[in-house]
Amino acid sequence: MPQPAPPPPALRPPPGPAREPAREFAPERAPEPAPERPEVVVVGGGVAGLSAALALTAAGAPCALYERRAPDAFSGMGFLFTANGLDALRALERRAGWPLGADDLGAPLSRMRLLSARGELLAERDAGGARGVRRARLTRALEEGCAGAGVRLHADVAVVDAALDPRGALRLALSDGAARVAPCVVGADGARSTLRAALFPEARFAPSRLLEVVGLAPAEALGAARGARDLVKAQDPARRVAFGYMPLDEREVVWYAQMSQEGAPPEGWVPEEDGEGRRAALLRRFEGWAPFTRDLLEACPFERTYRWDTRDLEPLPTARRGGLALVGDAAHASLTLSSQGVSGAIEDAVALGEALGEALGEALGAGLEASALAAAWRDAAARFEARRAPVWRRRQGEARALLDDFLWGDTRRGVPVAQP
Ligand SMILES: Cc1cc2nc3c(=O)[nH]c(=O)nc-3n(C[C@H](O)[C@H](O)[C@H](O)COP(=O)(O)OP(=O)(O)OC[C@H]3O[C@@H](n4cnc5c(N)ncnc54)[C@H](O)[C@@H]3O)c2cc1C
Repeated sequence: MPQPAPPPPALRPPPGPAREPAREFAPERAPEPAPERPEVVVVGGGVAGLSAALALTAAGAPCALYERRAPDAFSGMGFLFTANGLDALRALERRAGWPLGADDLGAPLSRMRLLSARGELLAERDAGGARGVRRARLTRALEEGCAGAGVRLHADVAVVDAALDPRGALRLALSDGAARVAPCVVGADGARSTLRAALFPEARFAPSRLLEVVGLAPAEALGAARGARDLVKAQDPARRVAFGYMPLDEREVVWYAQMSQEGAPPEGWVPEEDGEGRRAALLRRFEGWAPFTRDLLEACPFERTYRWDTRDLEPLPTARRGGLALVGDAAHASLTLSSQGVSGAIEDAVALGEALGEALGEALGAGLEASALAAAWRDAAARFEARRAPVWRRRQGEARALLDDFLWGDTRRGVPVAQP
């Protein structure tokens, strides 16, 4: 195992407002000279980008990563991490030779329980090795792994536009006014990807039919239920509304409210910005529900809740163009009901690293030449997509089926969490 390196700058996601791509590719400065070493440029420092940088470095390709967040930006909430994601994280650990804490990450869950709005048990199943994980914990581990592996991390620098040059290399315009030309690029810039907008103008989202609000609350708000290792979800099938929570550790739980957009008043079910307004709107919407709903909403610091008009990207015929390969949400943003976004992002990274390792083959032994990396990159991106695209499509279909169950009030499938 390599020695731990000094902690990298903290990178953090807050899903901010959509960033419109610039209309023209007009960097303020001439492209930077090519780096002295051939490298892969990764755009986006969420789970997908950090994991990809780590996996690609482990496969033999040095990486530079650009993340628009400032180092001290808010570090996000929590998510359900399914067993396949943990397996992928362990695989990444093995390849990178760096501990990522896969075996003690978050709170191991025992059961997933579906309740009626008033709290009666409707369905229950084993949690199948899933965990409730604090997002900051995972991204911090990945950032440390990247720093230890020698990834060049550029925080607070966004890619604001991109175009392909005649050879298929990407010309990237950066928010600091610089530009660079990169033959090998990973687009890991999330559901509202700037790279996808620039190079795949035909990409479309299905209309958003589900609104989700997420927040953190102290575990003590659960009273006697504190410490239970369950994902709990209460649902009102007639009104197409659900409220759930799961523990992240001894101190905190993450809760989430889901509601059909159908029939929403013109101002929406939940205000966009105003924290206390959100609390009041949710307390009204969940009035008369099982007591934990009110308890968590009242105990939550609402200024940090997150409101998300869920995104469902229509499958792209291909997620690579020239030297660009999209991964994670940039390639296949899917409905949150699937709970596969983080797991899928790590699986993508492992698969991309594996494909690049295969494609690079013996080129590595002789010292990596830029031309060899660029040639291997196209090959690797094709192998990667052939392996992953069928999984993306299957999962998206499952997530849409879960949404239909939710919107039509069907609870026969039990707790709406997709299987890997
Ligand atoms: C409300 C909600 C609940 C969810 N619950 C779960 C769950 O329980 N389980 C689960 O597995 N998944 C869940 N997901 C999905 C999961 O969060 C995503 O699928 C996952 O985070 C995707 O990772 P990513 O790295 O591809 O994208 P992101 O996490 O969005 O990361 C993209 C990164 O790129 C950066 N970036 C964006 N644009 C630029 C740019 N132009 N230049 C530089 N940097 C840029 C962003 O700042 C960000 O750090 C949920 C999502 C939401 C919204």
